[in-house]
This record gives sequence, structure tokens and C-alpha cells, in this order.
Amino acid sequence: MRKGIPVSPGISIGTAYCINEVFVRPEQTHLEEDAVGEELARFESAKDQSIRDLKALEAKVYAQVGKNEAAIFAMHQSILSDHAFTKKITGWIAGEKMTIQAALHRFLGEYEVLFSKAKDEYLQERFADIRDVVSRLSASLTDVKKEIDRGLKSPLIVVADELLPSQVVLLGDVEVKGIVTQAGGPTSHAAIIARSKGIPAVSGVRGILRQIKTGDEIVVDGREGIVRYNLDPEATAAYRKLEREFFDFKDQLAENRDEPALTADGRQIALLANINSVADAQSAKAMGGSGVGLYRTEYLYLTHPSVPDEEEQYENYRSIIEASPNNSVTIRTLDIGGDKTVPYLGHNHQESNPFMGWRSIRLSFEHPELFNSQIRAILRAAAGFEVGKVRMLFPMVTTVDEMRRVRSMVRRAMKQLVSQGKPFANVPIGMMLEVPAAAVMMDTLLEGCDFVSIGSNDLVQYLMAADRDNPKVSHLCQPLSPAVLRVLKNVIRVCNQNNTPITLCGEMAGQPRAFVLLLGMGLKNFSMSPAFIPTIKELAKKISTAEAAQILQNAMKLKTTSQVLRYMAGQIQRLAPKFTILDTA
Ligand code: PEP
Ligand code: MG
Repeated sequence: MRKGIPVSPGISIGTAYCINEVFVRPEQTHLEEDAVGEELARFESAKDQSIRDLKALEAKVYAQVGKNEAAIFAMHQSILSDHAFTKKITGWIAGEKMTIQAALHRFLGEYEVLFSKAKDEYLQERFADIRDVVSRLSASLTDVKKEIDRGLKSPLIVVADELLPSQVVLLGDVEVKGIVTQAGGPTSHAAIIARSKGIPAVSGVRGILRQIKTGDEIVVDGREGIVRYNLDPEATAAYRKLEREFFDFKDQLAENRDEPALTADGRQIALLANINSVADAQSAKAMGGSGVGLYRTEYLYLTHPSVPDEEEQYENYRSIIEASPNNSVTIRTLDIGGDKTVPYLGHNHQESNPFMGWRSIRLSFEHPELFNSQIRAILRAAAGFEVGKVRMLFPMVTTVDEMRRVRSMVRRAMKQLVSQGKPFANVPIGMMLEVPAAAVMMDTLLEGCDFVSIGSNDLVQYLMAADRDNPKVSHLCQPLSPAVLRVLKNVIRVCNQNNTPITLCGEMAGQPRAFVLLLGMGLKNFSMSPAFIPTIKELAKKISTAEAAQILQNAMKLKTTSQVLRYMAGQIQRLAPKFTILDTA
């Protein structure tokens, strides 16, 4: 058994599928004599394919972003075309009968030793490039469908160091029932993806890839944050029972999809969905959400081989709006940076503090053409829908100046569209409240905002100075810490007094214990992973706004996070005892 951080509730059993073993330990290392020829051919064709992909990427980035950003892909091609590289790998395959993955693993190992001696930052970055190239090559070799044809039993539990959006795409429509990662925390991609699919997940399980291999039967307990393997038949049977209970209970709750979201005293609240794709928009509908409170557009960029142009974005936003409940969608502009990087936007340099660095709106401002194309695509996509249903949201706003700049960019884009005779709609413009400085200046910032959305995932990490993806500091990165509660209460009060609509779209909105406190603060709009909507709708029925305000008042007298957590666990137990299985410990 291994313990990690619970990031998406529930229990499931399945077959482990380990991703990117090349960085850890390839499962199969040795080839039979007669398989050598085929392995060499596979290597050549994977290499050619990767070079072709990189060439296309380079051309597109050159045209749409710039020469400097494109250069990195030319360099990656040259690593792949390098004679010495090919000679080494094919030498090991032919001479020592190694699998490609094993040869790549050895290659990385050799280079790591070599580069670890280099103090020079430039050389360190070159090693990062080599890792990128090897991982691209290795990804083009792994084919989960083939593994299933060869006998790998689904449903799968994906085990990875970190789960990248591109890897999720590679999984396609294979049934995945759980996710385990070595890195990450409650707000990492793996966690967000798991929650959006409503499957259990545990993060921060260091070294798990050394203990589990593809094909092993494993259990993910996303409530306690536990991963189990080598189970005896009795334990397996017990977990299967729990698994069934969890999925049945969720299905049963989802039957409330057509009911309105009301508190016990009959007040209407909005339960909205956080989505990354059209499929998520459909599940928002299926789960009974009344709209989409956050569309994270970066997933379009992260899963796209290069920069999507204005037309591609327009098409994507249109399909998202069409698929969303009530055609109501808040589209967030690009939030790249931090842990989500794309090399074609100039992310080929390591930053020492990426979350505090060049990310989000800061990066968009420096790619004005790209930013403009996104703003135009959103304005155009909103045409023809009821006014105010499509909204534009800007991430990581820190200062009043930034909001003014955003407004002037939107005005400019509208002027362009008018002069080009292209149909578009005027949309409400909002900011994400994620930076403590903006929380302090909330009243002033409201001058430039039609609405506000609290990004508590980031707000909490910045307020507590505790990286949201670092398991070592996860005890500090807690949305229910007294400091966070004070800031949230104040921000919600300022917005309500000013009649500025406010939503919270961080992960805490879908946690029963946090929901009760937010309701007590006077929040009415909650945006969460679609899978949590039915739970929160049921919970809302059981509590009046006055009772929530009373619980908040009691909680705010407490001095430590653990006291708040304990108190709230007691309250949830009292209000809705069955719900504990749907929360993370
Ligand atoms: C947040 O920070 O709370 C948020 C919703 O944005 P993201 O998780 O995409 O950073
Ligand atoms: Mg954020």
C-alpha cells in the first residue's frame, strides 16, 4: 500500500497502465532474436514520424508566433536526425537486443550523467531538449489500443509521473477508471481531468512507477489517498463492493439533473461546470449544470500540434457554446504558463518560479497578435446567442492597468470586426481573482469588470505561498485555512455590495464542506467539475442560507486549518452522512 494525496474521490479497481516508462524503467527490456528487425524498423518509422511532426510544427509556429519560438523545433529535429544518436540506439537494439524503450532509457541515463556535471544553464537546457525529444519519440511508440489487443485488460488505471494533456489525448476513448501520479496535488492537470471525468485519483505518490508495472491489478482510493496492489482475493472483493457502491450512488444522485438548484429556504443558486472540451460540455448538461462557468481554452492549445488560428478557435468556441447547457459559457482566455507550458509560445527557457513568472495574461500581452485572434474568435463565436450568456474572462489579473489594457484590446478587436463586416456580439468582460494583490484592491478593480470569478486554486497557493502541485507543502495549500476564508469572505462582500456578479470556479466549489462555507458568505454562483454538480445540488437542498451563515460564523472563530476541517467534517456528517464517500479526506 502507498499513501499519496487524495485528489478526486471514489474507489476503483483496474489494470495499471504506466505512461512514459522511458523515464523510469521500461517494462520489457529484452528482444528475441527474430524481433530485432521489426524493432529497428519501428524505430526508423517513429523517428521519421517525429521529424515530420516537428517540421510541420516549426512551419506553423514560424508563421503564427515568430522565428525565435520556431527555432527550438528545428533544433529538436536536428537531435533526431543526428547520426550519432541513431547509431547509438540502433547499435543497442541490434547488438544487445534491447527494446527501443530500453535503449532510449539507457540513452537518457548516459546523458543525464554527462549533463549533471555541467553547471552552465545553457547546457542544462539542452538536456531538457533531449528529454523532450526522447519523450516525443517514446510517446509515438506507445499505443494503448495495441496493448489492449495484445491482452491488456480494461478498465485501466493510468499511472504516470505527471499526466500531460497530450497523453490524455493519446488514450482516446479507452476506458480509464482511475489516475495515479507521482507528482502533483489537488489542482494539477491529472486531478482536474480525473474530477471532470468523475473518476478516483491519487497524486503525489512518489516512486510508485518503480513498484507497479503495466498489467498489475491495482486499487485507487481517492477518498483516503491510497493506492493498493498485490491484493488477496478477500480484499479485492471488498474493494469491488465499495467501487460498486460509489458508482451506484453517483448515478443515483445524477437523477436530480432536471431539478432546480435551490437551498432549503428556496433560494436559487447557480451550479455551473468547469470544462476543457466539448465532451465536458456535454457532461455538464448530463449532470444538470445550468451553464459553463469556466471553459479553460488552453486545453485547445495544449492538445493542438501548434497554434490554433482564429478560424479554428472560432469553430471550437462555437461548438462549445452549442454543446453547453443553456448556451451559457464563460470563456477564459489563454492561461498558459506555471505548470502548463507549450514550447511554441516561448517556453523553452526554464523559469525558477514559473507560477510567479511569465504565465497567463502576462504571456498573452506579449503575444498581441495571438491574443487579438483569441479575443476576436470569442466575440465572433458569441454572435447570435442571447446577450450576456457568453462571457469573456481574463486570468491572473493583478492590477487595474491590466484590466484597462484588456478593455482597450477588446475595443480594438471590435472595431476591426466592424470594419471587416464580420458578425460578432458585445460580451461581458470579467477578471479572475487569483492574485492576493487584486483581492486587496478588489473595490478599485471592479471599475473595469462586468463580473468576477474567483480562481481559488491559484488564490490559495499565492496567499499561502505554497505551490499547488508540490506534495511537500500541501498541508499549507488549503482552501479552508482561516486566512483564505477571511479573504474570500471579504471579496464576496465587496462584489455583492457593488452588485457585481461573482462566481467561484476553483476546485473547492465542488467540495461539500467548502460549499457550505461559501454559501454562508453569500456566494450564489458555483462552478465545478461536472461530476460534482449532482452532489452539491443535493447538499444545497439540506441547508438554508441562514444555517450556512451560522456555520460560517462558527468556523471563522477557529484559529487553525485542522480545526476548521474537523468542524466542517462534523457538519457534513450531520447534514448529509452519505456524502462523505463523495469528498476527499
Ligand atoms: C483557479 O486557479 O482556481 C482556476 C480555476 O484556474 P486554473 O485551475 O485553471 O488555474
Ligand atoms: Mg488559475
